[in-house]
Amino acid sequence: MPPSPYIGRFAPSPTGLLHLGSLLTAVASYCDARASQGKWLVRIEDIDPLREVAGASSAILNTLEGFGLYWDDEVIFQSQRLSLYQDTIDTLLRQGRLFYCTCSRKQLIGHVIYPGTCRPQKRPPEGIAWALKAEVPHREYSFIDPLQGRFGLRFGEDAGDFVIQRKEGFIAYHLAVVLDDAAQNITHIVRGADLLDSTPYHLLLQDWLQLPTPHYMHLPVITNTFGQKLSKQTGAMALSTQQRSQQLVAVLAWLGQNPEAGLAQEPVSEVLAWAVAHWQSKNIPHHPTLAR
Ligand code: GLU
Ligand code: ZN
Repeated sequence: MPPSPYIGRFAPSPTGLLHLGSLLTAVASYCDARASQGKWLVRIEDIDPLREVAGASSAILNTLEGFGLYWDDEVIFQSQRLSLYQDTIDTLLRQGRLFYCTCSRKQLIGHVIYPGTCRPQKRPPEGIAWALKAEVPHREYSFIDPLQGRFGLRFGEDAGDFVIQRKEGFIAYHLAVVLDDAAQNITHIVRGADLLDSTPYHLLLQDWLQLPTPHYMHLPVITNTFGQKLSKQTGAMALSTQQRSQQLVAVLAWLGQNPEAGLAQEPVSEVLAWAVAHWQSKNIPHHPTLAR
C-alpha cells in the first residue's frame, strides 16, 4: 500500500518577526510532515492590514530558511486570494447563513455571546457600517486532539454568531484559514493551543461548505514568567541569527524529543535530520501551555 498522503503547513501572520514560540510551531509542523514523508507548505496569513508589520513576510521566510526549514511548492499569500473568499461569502449569503450586523461595540457590552439582535437583517443596510456574521446553529462541534484531548464548543451556548467579514471590509481569519487549508489539500494541521478554541469554528465552516476536516494537533504554547503567550505584544525576543542549532535544540527539548548530547554543535541541517528521524509526536507535552 502507498503511504497515506500527508500535507502539512505553517501559516504565520506577518505581525512581527518569528520568536521562539513561532519557531516551535514551525519545527513541530515541519518534523511531523517530514517524518510522515509528507509535504510541508508555508502560507502567509496577511489578511489583516491593520496588524501587519512592513517587511515581516520576507523576514519570516528568510528566518525559516536560516533555520533550514525549507518548504515545498510556492508560498501562498492570503492577500492575493480575496476573490476566493468573496465568492464563498456570496455562497454563504445565498444559503442564508449570514446576516448584516450593525451593532456598535457599546451595544454588545455585557453580552458573553452575541445576542442575535441583527439576525433578521439579511440585506445590506444603507448608511450604516455593517459586519457580516455567521448565524450559528444550536449544536456542538467537537474533535479529539492527540495532545489536548477532546475539545468542543456548544454553539448557541458557549459561542455565538461570529464575524465573517469585518466592518472595515477585511475577511475574518476563520473563513480564510478554512478555505486555504481546503484549497491546499492540507491533511494535518499542527499549530499552537492558543488556536484550540478556533477549531470548532473551523469544523462548523467545513460542515457548511462541505470541505474535508483535516487532523488537528494543538501544541503547547510557551508562556513567559507571567503566564502570557510569547508574542511581540508580551515582549518576546526575535530569534537570534547566531547559534541557530542551539535554538532548534531548545525547541526540540520543549517538544519532549530528548535531543541527543552534542546535537547543538551540529549544523541546522543535521539537527533537523535528527529531529525528523527521531520524531515522536506522542512525546510532546500534553498541556496547552509550557512555562519558560
Ligand atoms: N496565522 C495564524 C497565527 O499566526 C495561525 C493560523 C493557523 O495555524 O491556523 O496565529
Ligand atoms: Zn448586531
